[in-house]
Amino acid sequence: MKRDYYEVLGIEKGCGDGDIKKAYRKMAMKYHPDKNPGNKQAEEKFKEAAEAYSILSDSQKRAQYDQFGHAATGNAQGGFGGAGGFSGFADFDLSDALRTFMDGFGTSSFEDFFGGSSSGRRRIRGSDMKVTLDLTLEEIADGVTKTIKIKRMDACKTCDGSGGQSGVMPTRCTTCEGSGQVRQISRSVFGQFVNVGECSNCSGTGEVISKPCRSCRGDGRTKKPSEIKVNVPPGVASGNYMTLRGEGNAGPRASERGDLIVFFDEMEHKFFSRHGGDIITAVEISFSQAALGHKIEVPTLSGLAKLTIPAGIQSGQVLRMRGKGLSELRGGQRGDQLVKIQIMTPTKLNSSQKKLFEELSSSNGMKDKIKVRKVNL
Ligand code: ZN
Repeated sequence: MKRDYYEVLGIEKGCGDGDIKKAYRKMAMKYHPDKNPGNKQAEEKFKEAAEAYSILSDSQKRAQYDQFGHAATGNAQGGFGGAGGFSGFADFDLSDALRTFMDGFGTSSFEDFFGGSSSGRRRIRGSDMKVTLDLTLEEIADGVTKTIKIKRMDACKTCDGSGGQSGVMPTRCTTCEGSGQVRQISRSVFGQFVNVGECSNCSGTGEVISKPCRSCRGDGRTKKPSEIKVNVPPGVASGNYMTLRGEGNAGPRASERGDLIVFFDEMEHKFFSRHGGDIITAVEISFSQAALGHKIEVPTLSGLAKLTIPAGIQSGQVLRMRGKGLSELRGGQRGDQLVKIQIMTPTKLNSSQKKLFEELSSSNGMKDKIKVRKVNL
């Protein structure tokens, strides 16, 4: 079972961004692999802290996590992941943790902390992609597997992603000595700063190709249509999203793929509006159905279902169909379907119907009477 991210960092749920960074920094310093060589337990702690920080330091991801827990990040252990490269705990590996560390504190400070030990080359990786997936209420009710079609960067077939013509090996970039980074020292009144930037000669890859592949011009990628399966869990709402790790664009020259972030969008329903786990609809019934009671059939998210109208129901009364609503994302109880009853007054009466109503209105206990009450529009 995954530990709560706040618990991992030892902080309170409502704490400020500064506290998150401070707590993470403390953990990262303590458990960094450079300080604990060969210590698997420390490495696990380091990874766990980095994963927690990567979510909680991003305001959008944090809000999602606060609302939906691990399910929001697609990181739920044994959750709705499975095939298709969903991000899971196992996927957050040491290099991800190191990247998080460097993103959080900057490459130069990393070297400052660890006495100039080599931080290795910055990881080149493909860009993330975002898609929006439209879902019907029926699909949201039960969860659904959808196939989405996207055009994304894939490894070039001609050069197999290497970017070079066949037989041509890439050589070390002489500008950055293969590190992919160039350091610039600037001075100001506050002192000396070291800026580390991407090497422009090799685009940060650390290698140059003398004879670039003709299909991809040395990039190692071409755009290709792809089909990707998405397992949508029951109960999602518009604005929820899921991160499919490694399903985004391929990186240049066979480097790591970016992520695909799938946003969910709920489509308008013909009959139902949604309130959390409940769905609401209105049904018009006749005068006599209201007075005498009746069994009617109403649409639900899983086809037609019987609904008993009790005799004497009033216009505006709401009937509850238990369990006919939506599942909750966190696996709670299924919501209900609420049916607001509206009574139709007949508008066209023939002479015999008119007579019947007149008889009705003069009969015992049915005398015409009105009642006045206060109401808000
Ligand atoms: Zn190529």
